[in-house]
This record gives sequence, C-alpha cells and structure tokens, in this order.
Amino acid sequence: MDNFAQHTPMMQQYLQLKAQNPEILLFYRMGDFYELFYDDAKKAAALLDISLTKRGQSAGQPIPMAGVPYHAVEGYLAKLVQLGESVAICEQIGDPATAKGPVERQIVRIVTPGTVSDEALLPERTDNLIVALYQERDKFGLASLDMASGRFQLCEPADTATLAAELQRLRPAELLYCEDFQEMALLTPYSGLRRRPIWEFELSTAINELNRQFGTKDLRAFGVEKAPLGLSAAGCLLQYAKETQRGALPHIQSISLQAKQDIIQLDAATRRNLELTQNLTGGTDNTLASVLDKCVTPMGSRLLKRWLHQPIRQRQTLLQRQQTIGELIAADLPDTLQPLLHNIGDMERILTRVALRSARPRDLTRLRAALSQLPHLATALQAIDAPQSQRLFARIEDFSAEWDLLQRAIGENPPLLIRDGGVIAAGYHSELDEWRSLSAGATEYLEQLELRERQATGIDTLKIGFNAVHGYYIQISAGQAHKAPIHYVRRQTLKNAERYIIPELKEYEDKVLKSKSAALALEKQLYDELFDLLLPRLGALQLAAQTLAELDVLSNLAERATTLNYVAPQFSDVIGVHIEGGRHPVVEQVIKEPFIANPLKLDNERHLLIITGPNMGGKSTYMRQTALIALLAHIGSYVPADSACLGPIDRIFTRIGASDDLASGRSTFMVEMTEMANILHQAGAQSLVLIDEIGRGTSTYDGLSLAWACAEWLARKIRSLTLFATHYFELTALPESLPGVANIHLDALEHNNTIAFLHSVQEGAASKSYGLAVAALAGVPPQVVKLAKQKLHQLESLSAHQSDKQLQELRQLQHEQGELALYSEPDALREALEQLDPDELSPKQALAYLYQLKKLL
Ligand code: ADP
Repeated sequence: MDNFAQHTPMMQQYLQLKAQNPEILLFYRMGDFYELFYDDAKKAAALLDISLTKRGQSAGQPIPMAGVPYHAVEGYLAKLVQLGESVAICEQIGDPATAKGPVERQIVRIVTPGTVSDEALLPERTDNLIVALYQERDKFGLASLDMASGRFQLCEPADTATLAAELQRLRPAELLYCEDFQEMALLTPYSGLRRRPIWEFELSTAINELNRQFGTKDLRAFGVEKAPLGLSAAGCLLQYAKETQRGALPHIQSISLQAKQDIIQLDAATRRNLELTQNLTGGTDNTLASVLDKCVTPMGSRLLKRWLHQPIRQRQTLLQRQQTIGELIAADLPDTLQPLLHNIGDMERILTRVALRSARPRDLTRLRAALSQLPHLATALQAIDAPQSQRLFARIEDFSAEWDLLQRAIGENPPLLIRDGGVIAAGYHSELDEWRSLSAGATEYLEQLELRERQATGIDTLKIGFNAVHGYYIQISAGQAHKAPIHYVRRQTLKNAERYIIPELKEYEDKVLKSKSAALALEKQLYDELFDLLLPRLGALQLAAQTLAELDVLSNLAERATTLNYVAPQFSDVIGVHIEGGRHPVVEQVIKEPFIANPLKLDNERHLLIITGPNMGGKSTYMRQTALIALLAHIGSYVPADSACLGPIDRIFTRIGASDDLASGRSTFMVEMTEMANILHQAGAQSLVLIDEIGRGTSTYDGLSLAWACAEWLARKIRSLTLFATHYFELTALPESLPGVANIHLDALEHNNTIAFLHSVQEGAASKSYGLAVAALAGVPPQVVKLAKQKLHQLESLSAHQSDKQLQELRQLQHEQGELALYSEPDALREALEQLDPDELSPKQALAYLYQLKKLL
C-alpha cells in the first residue's frame, strides 16, 4: 500500500470512505457527478460501458477515474444492481462555500440488489428478495426479506433438496451466507452472493436484534422461537438490511415461520417443469402466470405469483378465497372493481418508502389517490350479497383523516422532487403562504419596476433579468446604452447589451431570494413532518395494502374464471383426484385447434396409472394439466375443468423431460435419476407424482428395468397418486400383477402411414407403438420409413418368443424377490448405527456403544 500522506487531501478523504466498505463500489459525489476511482473506476467502466479517464495525480500516480452524472444515477444503479453489485452512495454533507479543504462527505446509504426500495430500481411485478442462509452440520436456517414491503419470513429446510426448492421459489436478488456454509453448489445459479462472518449469525444477538426491531420482549408471539437456525439467519439479515439503509426500518413489523405442514411442497425440478412464472428457457411466455395474471395492481401481480409458488393446504383459507371468487362472479363485480383497484396502484411499496422517509411527492399523491378509492370500493362491495368479500374488506380501517391530510398538504400536481419547491399545497401552512406571497409580491414589484424605469428613461429595450452569477440586473441594448441614467451602475457588458444594477433592485433581489429559500426550507420541513404524521398509521395502512392486493388477486381470478370457463374445485378428506373434462390452462390458450378435455380418476383403488400412446399424443400435457389443476385448487382458484374433486395432497412431484444440466456437469440420465431418487425418498401416500418417461438415457434393458422397478416401488410401497407415462410397452403388464395399477392411453388413428392424434384419454393400454408413423409425419424420407418397417418386422418375429420369456422372467422375479426386496426387515445393526450421533458421545459412551454394536452382530 502506498503512503497515505502522499495523497491529496481529497483523495485521503476518498480512501477513508472507501475503507469503510472496501468490497463494494463507492459513488463519490463531486458537484454534479458521482465519481469512481482506482479499481472501482475500472470495474464500473467495464460494467456500465462508460469511459475510463484519469484525474490529476495523487501519490505521484495518475488516478483512474470514471463518473456518472447525478441526475442520471438511477439508471446506472439499476444496471449495477441487476448485475448483483452493491454501491455505497457518498454525498457532500458540508457547505462547499465555507469548507476548508475538501467538503465534508458521508456515505448516506448503500444500494444493494436485495435491499433496494426505490421505484426505479425494482422490478414492478416481481418480488425482490434478500435471503440469508445458515448451516449447522446438516441442518439449515433460511430467512428472507422483501425490503419493499417489509415481509420477513424464516424457515428451516430439512435437507439440501428442500433448501434448493426454497431458493428456487424465492429467487433471491441477493444472498447472504455464513462463511462456513457447505453447500456452495446450491448457490451457483444466483448472483449477489455475500459471504458473511459467522458471528453475525449468533443466536442471542439475533434474538436481541429482532426484539429491538419489533419492540417486543420475546419472540413467542411470532411463533418462531423454536427455529433457532432460522433465527440466526434472520439476525444476520436484519443487521445487514439496517446497515445498508443507515436508518430505522419501521415497516418491518413482524416475522413469521413457514410451517411445512401448511403448504404443498414443490421441489426445484417440479417448480421448473410446471412453468409457473418462468418457462423452461427462462422467459415468461406461455407460463401459468402469463395466462392467469391480469391483476390491475403490481402488488396484486406479485401476490398472485407468490401464491402460485406456494400452494397452501389450509382448507378454510382456500374455501374463503373460493367463496369470495364465487360472490364476485355471481354479482358480476370484477368489471366494477378492477378500474377502482387500478387506481390503488402500488400502495404496498409506496408505504415502504413513506416508512423509510424516501417517498417522493408523487408517491404521496398516489397514496392519496389510493385512499380516495376506498369509499367507492366499500360502496361497490356493500351493494351485493357477499359476506366473504365484505369480511375481507372489513380489515381495511377508515383512512379519511389521512386522505384529508394529504389532500390539504400536497398540491394537485406536485413536481418530481421536493427540492424543486411547490410541493406543499397553498393554504396548508400560513407561514409558508406568507413567504410565498412575499416572493411572488417581490416578483410582481420587479415587473412594475421594469415598466417604471422604461417610462422614466424612455428606453423601450430596457428590461429586468436574472442570472445566477450576477443576480437581478437592468439590461439595455448596446444601441441605447448611452441613454442610461447616471445612477445606473454597470455590472456586465455583452456583445449587444449592457447590464446595470441600482440600489432598489438589489434590495428586492435580497427579498426575493430570501423569501424563496425560506419557503423552500419550510416546505422541506413540512414534508418531513408529513412522514411523522403518517407513521403511527403505518401498520394499519400496510394491512390495507395487503388486503387490497388480495382483493385484486381474487377479482382477477374471478374474471379469469369467467373468461376462461373455470369451475370451483371441491375438496374431500379421502385420498384421490377426480377430474371431469380437465384442460391444460396454458396449452388450451396457445393451440389453434380445439383442446380435447380429459377425465382423470386416481384414488385408493387406482393410484398408479401407466400412460401409453404415441409421441405427441398428449401424455405430457395430460400429466401437467393434472398438476396445474391441483395447484390452482390449492391457491383457492377455480380450475380449467368441468368438475374437480381433490383429496389431501402434501407434495407434487414431476419428473418430466430432462435436459443435460451442463452447468453442474450432469448428463441427462444423471439428472433424471437424481430427480427420481428424490421422488422415491420423499413421496408419500398423499403425494401427487408425475413421471414422464424414465430410463430413456440408458440401454433398453437397463431403462426398462429401472422404469419397472420405480413404478412397482411407487405402487406397492409408497402408494402415491401417480401418473406414469412410458414408451416401454412392457410396463402395461403391471396391472395384471399389481393391485391399484391401471392402464390408460392417448388415442390416435393411423391411416396410410400417417397418424392423427385424437388427444383423448382412454382406458387400457395403447394398441401399438406409433413410432414409425410419427417419424413419417416429422418428415423422415419415405424410403427410410419403409426400411425401418422391414427391420421392425424382422425384429418382432425374432424377439416375439424371447420377449415373452423375458416378461415371464421379470414377473417371476417380482414374485420371488419383489416381496423380499420391498419389505425386508430393517436389520438391528443398521438401525442402531443410523440412530448413532458420534458428536453426542463422550469417549466412554463411544466405547460402550462399540461393545453393544459388536453384540448385535
Ligand atoms: P407427448 O407427451 O405424448 O409426446 P404432448 O403432451 O407433448 O405429447 O403433446 C403434444 C402436442 O399435442 C401439444 O403440444 C399440443 O399442441 C397437443 N395436445 C396435447 N394434448 C392435447 C389436447 N388434450 N387437446 C388438443 N391438443 C393437445
């Protein structure tokens, strides 16, 4: 490191500020620019595509420098934040006029990808989250915070698969992890990774910090006290968030624990496969959200997406949502509600900016507009017979006082920034009005003065003007300058004009400037006081915003149900899924032909369906639609079917069309098997399991055997509700030997070497494989198809006998060993070993245990 004292005073100040946050970019305010120096400059120049220059010399070296103009800073910040970078914003605090040496500067806030709340830096219709992760041996704690709304949650994922699923659901913009976190591979898909020291996760500090934040003595009221790892993560997260804002976070008022029994769990692969909010190529086209989300407020849109990613199991809540949707449909209310809700806008995020005291004047006019809609919404809802909707709406308190305050305080169309002045409305504050009329009066006086002087001197080109350097002046054109009276004092000579000053003008100039700046200072103070007046009502306002977001989602779902012809699903306590006329919500929107609706019957007597049929016949569509209908039912929505009845479901699994996971170096087959292993470990009798082709990535016999074994294990041992699509025809023999298994197929017609897909689901196995017909349809040359046909005949006659024998053998094997393999008693030695936790044993206990194990052997 070079010698600090060799630097210029300004660079010394810079280096001191930089040392406070060495790892992140420092935007150092100089006049109208934010400047970056040294490595920061090089990095920013590359990331932002701005030019890298040099500034003077410090310590004998030119300093690399790059800068962005202050008025355009938001665009640059947005870009950096999107790239996962954080930025420390350093402003001039002192007055340049009186400062000796460099003006005093301070880091006023730190902009990080996960803690931004500025409108310009946030994606409008998706949540922007920061997550903290803690690990203790094989257990995890996870906390997540939506800074822009104050939503703060924690959970303790049971294993790495659950953790991966949770991360995929949350898709954090910034991720803090403890320095001894072991599962780094899970974090590779995410940007904005921040390694944090272990002491930031200390449990007692975490509990203290949280209590201080919520003004509580203990955390029992939030039901989180039994989740120490989650709390550790939450503690680190809260400290980090506070550090970035350099101030209080009054909008974060509680924390909640996500209990896994309350939600339908979706693993990472399922979430991806079902294309809920993102399609397989990373876009948003043809996703469930693209069909379903016509919410009129951004906060509604975000809530709906949150619901889609976290279907719930609480029947009562689901039924309330359903009934609300039903009421709105019956009264034909969405058309009335949606325009009103549209005017509510993004109240949730506006309130956060009010809490952080960073709300702009137009945030407050939008809040005012939102509050003014409440009476209209109330009237619309009271006009109908809708107990559920009214119950929901009743959570919103009366905010007429707040509306009135904003109405009186803020002008009709205020400017963008408070520093521009003219934000506070006339009549709100008498002193402000006085300063304003003084400044206006003085301006008026100047106009009169101009007229008077023109008449007195007889110079018709005389006029009064103003510039920042010379203040007010009287200007006379060069041609008439000789007529200027003697008491005019020359200030400035221009090419075509002369400028003068007189004592009277100077006096009024003082008055104008003084009253203007007094008015502005007072305005700023009054604006700041508005936050103090609103803050006590923050909690109630936040609840109102949540309720309005929910109302938006429900009226959106009502509108969608009517437009797209959905029905209310029913719930039952008996395990099973019964659907009549089920449709795929996305496919039915994008195909040009009519969609063929299909039934489904899955229950205790019939819990595994082997699905066969030609490629392109509609197998994947059928399976996915089942998952999507189940999922929609569990967010409280209506579903695309003629009728649907669902028993309890705890998890949804899909294993659908794998692709190579090149990023982590896993082949298609490896991905497929990893997903399958996960299902076989986690699924239970209440799980909905969808398997689309398994065993394709290996040799035929390997693949067939694996598919057979998986199907059998699911049917016999797990007894999950399973749809099992396969091209291994041999599996259609399973129902003969296994109770609860049935065949269904997707119908197709073959005629003259071509094939027509009927897309309708029928009982029984497909009559044959249509591989050659599909190949012909895809444009494989007729000669090749003909050749393939000949080959097929040869193979079939050759192996007819052999394959019969194989099938027999497979069945035999299943009868002899199947029972054994599936139901073998777990041995005592293994069990003892599994229960053993070496970290819990003293040396003496360990020895005793060894003897015990030996005995078991
Ligand atoms: P498979 O999995 O059997 O290969 P897919 O489910 O991928 O077949 O379906 C292939 C195409 O057939 C879909 O992209 C869709 O256009 C169409 N399709 C599928 N199911 C239906 C249906 N029920 N009604 C109308 N078209 C369908």
